[in-house]
Amino acid sequence: MAKKIKIFIDPGHGGSDPGAVANGLREKDLTLAIAKALKKYLEQFEGIEVRLSREDDRFLSLAERTRLANEWGADIFISIHINAGGGTGFETFVFTNASSKSVAYQNVIHEEIMKVMGVTDRGKKRANFAVLRTSRMPAILTENLFIDRASDAAKLKDPTFISYVAKGHGEGIVKVFGLKRKSNTSSPANKPTVSRPNPSNQSKPSQPAASKPSTGNSKPSGDPYVRNIQQFVNSYGFSIAVDGIAGPKTMRALIMVLQTELNKQFARGLTVDGIFGPRTRAALANLRAETRGNLTRVLQAFLYIIGFNPGPFDGVFGDMTTTAVRSFQRARRLSVDGIVGPQTWSALLG
Ligand SMILES: [Zn+2]
Repeated sequence: MAKKIKIFIDPGHGGSDPGAVANGLREKDLTLAIAKALKKYLEQFEGIEVRLSREDDRFLSLAERTRLANEWGADIFISIHINAGGGTGFETFVFTNASSKSVAYQNVIHEEIMKVMGVTDRGKKRANFAVLRTSRMPAILTENLFIDRASDAAKLKDPTFISYVAKGHGEGIVKVFGLKRKSNTSSPANKPTVSRPNPSNQSKPSQPAASKPSTGNSKPSGDPYVRNIQQFVNSYGFSIAVDGIAGPKTMRALIMVLQTELNKQFARGLTVDGIFGPRTRAALANLRAETRGNLTRVLQAFLYIIGFNPGPFDGVFGDMTTTAVRSFQRARRLSVDGIVGPQTWSALLG
């Protein structure tokens, strides 16, 4: 029996803390509505448990929220908020020194939510928010439109839009963990796009706003550097999507490349399973300036994905890669020597 994946959803604010208030809306009500709809959406999938930090209108401190998730041993912490301050659109956050897993989850969830929202993309960001800093699992925080912008508020007042926001979060989580739909349910309430006999109208019912998911034509998607990484991975015979989005599949495939190279170059005899466990950890080789080759490429890939620019993706451990390694070591409070030994590797891949 596989262990269930634990998904912790944190509707921001509550009780005496309404969050942002404007245009007749309160942030605490919207975050709870999205969280509940998200839980309901996820109930269509198997192999998971879902918990909310609150199921009703009550106050919880920030520390209490992460304590609940940490004690439960959640596999992901996702905090839902509504923005304020005069902007417009959608943005997500991970912690300033986020783990590579957090960044991978953010990349996928952000994209999936953007697909259904069709609003201004304010970007994938980092911040020293308490719930992101103190949660011991990959954690992301979403800011879903601006309550004090009339056009955003109008969308937030529409229950259909709220259900799409929830669906976007849900589809991101489904993609991150590769969840499978339960075979016995065909819950039509949660799946508005199931085929209905309606020959006169081919369009999807009430998809909010303009942006349609890309149908794979013309313009390549995502980050070109990440596409190079994905092409490199596929040169090993894997077949991950070259979509420029560095999600968990890309991370896992990179670890498989790492294992393959360790076997090839050092006869380590590792199982190529994409899991960074104790055996792979013990088999790692040190990398330092002037090293070159595909292990250095794997290093450059991880550095880039978590936000430290190693220069060109060329497998050469030159000045830019050294600078990136040193910045990473400084950020993680490791000894800053520019050498990628077991500690630095573990911090990068963990
Ligand atoms: Zn908030």
